[in-house]
Amino acid sequence: MSATAISVERILLRRVRIPMREPFRISNGTVSEKESIVIQVQAAGHSGYGEASPMPGSFYSKETPESTWDTLVNDLIPDIFSRTIANPVQYADSLNRFKYECFARAGIEGAVWDLFASLLGTTIRELLGIPHHNIPSGLAVGMFDTVDALLERIEHYLRDGYRRIKIKIAPGWDLEPLTAVRKRFGDIPLMVDANASYELAEHREILRALDRFNLVMIEQPLAADALEDSADLMRSIRTPICLDESADSMESLEEIIRLNAAGIINIKVQRVGGLWNAKLMEGRAREAGLSLWLGTMPELGIASAQALEIASLPGFVYPTDIEASTRWFHDDIVEPQISIGADGCIAIPPMGYRASEEKIERYTLSRKEFQR
Ligand SMILES: [Mg+2]
Repeated sequence: MSATAISVERILLRRVRIPMREPFRISNGTVSEKESIVIQVQAAGHSGYGEASPMPGSFYSKETPESTWDTLVNDLIPDIFSRTIANPVQYADSLNRFKYECFARAGIEGAVWDLFASLLGTTIRELLGIPHHNIPSGLAVGMFDTVDALLERIEHYLRDGYRRIKIKIAPGWDLEPLTAVRKRFGDIPLMVDANASYELAEHREILRALDRFNLVMIEQPLAADALEDSADLMRSIRTPICLDESADSMESLEEIIRLNAAGIINIKVQRVGGLWNAKLMEGRAREAGLSLWLGTMPELGIASAQALEIASLPGFVYPTDIEASTRWFHDDIVEPQISIGADGCIAIPPMGYRASEEKIERYTLSRKEFQR
């Protein structure tokens, strides 16, 4: 890595919005347009791009596009202008003192990794010392009004080559769609994500009944902080429990390990506050004997492409939720667009994906520029 510390000279924040091809509905809300904040940092004639990608509203987490924007403007941009950066790891570590707003931190840290990759003529993956390989991708589908509509959507997207199916469940939408999916698609790898919508005391029998579907895993059945209940559930069912919303930091990962509250962890770069935290958590979880996979919000192409840079880490043994650009969005802001091969894998271009200035401009809603 470069021996010379850099000073970020200029930052451009842009709020972008791209319509989704179909609304994304989970147990606690629906989204039909994708909004992200694109962060462009500049130094020594080079640009680095990052993306902060919270869901609109606050149905997935406390962070919203508005709170993320405010954190960037009021805290993270003044901070980055006040320092020099010797390398992205040092910068990433320094961001952890901002204990909140993981999406804002992930976005600006991604921009700094990309800036160093540009300055050194390499990729983020190479800066992190991670080998290159193709990344198996799984299909994730939201909720629908009818089982027939769900089956129709799955059938439509399976033609693109995805390797497993993940469906969203919630109390009242679980055994019936699962029975229908198993009947229609046979023994294809299948998993469910409940987005924290069940309560152990009330739903233990339903959750136990999920064992009969031979699922790869049940993702986040219980509330994010219900780790003791999750450990209890682990002991009473055969299907592995995966935690997503619960695993938002190294501290919560340690608690999951201590309580034996999960067998599998879904790591989302945005939710854990950046690539470096994600890499450290992958290492810790693997050392503790947990299996992992790489999830997504989903994000637009800049954040997706950066997450793919760490998807080759050895702990990520299940297919990623990162799908083709065209799976969710009418367009994307990277070139080339992310695509799935006939083998169900994402083949990352040797020099990675490039942020498209023309596309970012086309979808910009508002902007603000900052100088050191
Ligand atoms: Mg999830």
